[in-house]
Parts: sequence; structure tokens; C-alpha cells
Amino acid sequence: LTATIIDGKAVAADVRARVAEAVAAELDSLGRPPALATVLVGSDPASHVYVANKRKACEQAGIRSIHHELDAEIDPEELIALVGRLDADPGVDGILVQMPLPAPHDAERVLAEISPRKDVDGLTPVNAGLLAQGKIGVSEALELAPRPGGEPAAGMVACTPSGVMELLARSGVELEGAEAVIVGRSTLVGRPLASLLLAANATVTVCHSRTRDLAATCARADVLVAAVGVPGLVKGEWVKPGAVVIDVGINRTDEGLVGDVEFGSAAERAVAITPVPGGVGPMTIAMLLANTLRAARANVSR
Ligand code: NDP
Repeated sequence: LTATIIDGKAVAADVRARVAEAVAAELDSLGRPPALATVLVGSDPASHVYVANKRKACEQAGIRSIHHELDAEIDPEELIALVGRLDADPGVDGILVQMPLPAPHDAERVLAEISPRKDVDGLTPVNAGLLAQGKIGVSEALELAPRPGGEPAAGMVACTPSGVMELLARSGVELEGAEAVIVGRSTLVGRPLASLLLAANATVTVCHSRTRDLAATCARADVLVAAVGVPGLVKGEWVKPGAVVIDVGINRTDEGLVGDVEFGSAAERAVAITPVPGGVGPMTIAMLLANTLRAARANVSR
């Protein structure tokens, strides 16, 4: 078997174009372009690249980008106060605080300042809870047409997991009854993705650093997702022949950006696989734009 490469860049470009169209069509009813506030703390080079890409994507979709860049040494209370002000500002529709925050900043306290309706990253306890209870899911994540009667958004789904679901859907992957194995249980990726796959009626296993036999567990997967942050952790021989492999990992190495899956050997067994870069990464940004549009509708209809 030689795997089909799942082209995240192309799917993301399509989603972005659809968001741009919807933004243009709704400018009159919104009264102004949707506005996303980004908050970047410290000097982590990867975070700077991510935020720059998100801002550029906003501008291309007709979304206004409002950016705040702070020194890592800023008083934590000042950061919390800034996010609180953005939350109270009716001209701001969505707020994205780039994670991870450098020490001593407390991500939970910062996120607590963000109203669920402005939480375009889907990280606040309310949005994470709605997803965990199956009350919101992929249909909300990619709601590119306004709701009938201008009803506000039901909730915000985290961007990377909803991007993974969109890639699976576009690739025609049958999830109902499938064995899905996720390696990684972070609040950003692994946990919300488990909820989404469960909502799609997959049988979901979530692995982590204490999992006893990772190789054997991965080998059961019809859909195998790696979201770990360890280059090449998932070996090609762990991939069940014919499985779909989604590599969320982004690791900077001397050889450049690599994922959490040993790409070459995995691609020989998988039926379809995402590359790194050009797989899940571009989807995260596309879904952020979709969430921002939904946040703008909810904000304006208040
Ligand atoms: P975290 O560090 O928050 O979580 C990593 C998870 O992997 C944890 O659950 C951890 O287990 C588990 N883990 C670590 N080592 C092992 C191991 N040896 N065996 C099994 N499980 C292990 O990472 P994130 O979820 O935030 O990110 C994961 C990767 O995805 C990173 O490379 C990150 O850069 C990338 N990423 C990519 C995005 C994109 O847009 N494509 C967006 C977000 C992240 P435990 O819980 O036991 O510690």
C-alpha cells in the first residue's frame, strides 16, 4: 500500500475561501468586519510564527486583526486585565491568547476572563464542557451560514480537533463503528478530538505517557491520530495496513519540521496520511476563521 496524501493546505484554502465569502456577504448585517484579538506573550519563535500566520489569514478573509504583544515579564495581573478589557469591548468578537503562556502566567486564570462566546479557541471550561457532553460538535464548528432567525452560536469547538474532523470528512473516512486511537490527551487536542470522534460514533481509545502497550493499541486503529510532540514516536510498523493516519505533531528538528509519526514507513501501510507540514496545521487556522465569523454573529446579535 502507498498512502494517499491528505492535502490539508488545499482543504484549508477551501474553508478559508468559504469564510471569506460569508464575511463579504454578511458585512451589511454585521455592520462591520468581524474582529479577532490576538494576545501574544513572550518571545517564543514558534508562537510568533503561528500568530503572524493567523493574523495574515484573518486579513485575507476580511476579518479585522487586533494584536497585542507583551513581554514575558509583564505583571500577570496586567495580562489578565488586558484580556478582561478585550472581553468587555463590543468591537472585539473573538479573543485568542496564544498558548503556551510563559511562566509565571497562569493560563487558567487568563482564560477565565474570556466569555465562552468570544472563546474562538474553544478552551474555556464552558465550551470544553459542552463538547464533552456532546452538546456541540462538528456541525457547529463549520457553520458557515448564519443560523435561522439570527440565533447565536451554540458554542465554540477547539480549532485543531475540528480541523482534523474536517480532513477526515473530506477524505471520505467512515467513522461510524471504526476503531479510533488518539495518542495524546491534552485539553487542546487529544481530549476534544476524543469527544468529536465519539460523537461521530467511532470507538475511541485515548493513549498517553502511561499507556502500557502503545504499539499494540495503535495497531488496532482504523483511524490513528498522533498528538504528542515527540518526533517520529509512532512507528510505521504500528500502523494497521489500510488505516488512516492523522499526524497533529509539529516538531522543529535539524531536518526541519517533522510530525509525531514516522512518515515514510507509515505511508507504506496507511491508506491515507497527513503530511507535516501541510496537513493538520493549515486546518487549525482555517477553523479559527470559521469560529471568528460565528463569534461575530453572536456578538452583533446581542
Ligand atoms: P501536550 O504536550 O499538551 O500533550 C502531549 C500528550 O502526549 C500528553 O497527553 C502526553 O501524555 C502524551 N505523551 C507524551 N509522551 C508520550 C509518549 N512517549 N507516549 C505516549 N504519549 C505521550 O501537547 P499538545 O497536545 O499541545 O500538542 C501535541 C503536538 O501537536 C505537538 O507537537 C504540538 O506542536 C502539535 N500541535 C499542532 C497543532 C496544529 O495546528 N497542527 C496545534 C496544537 C498542537 P501525558 O498526558 O501522560 O503527559
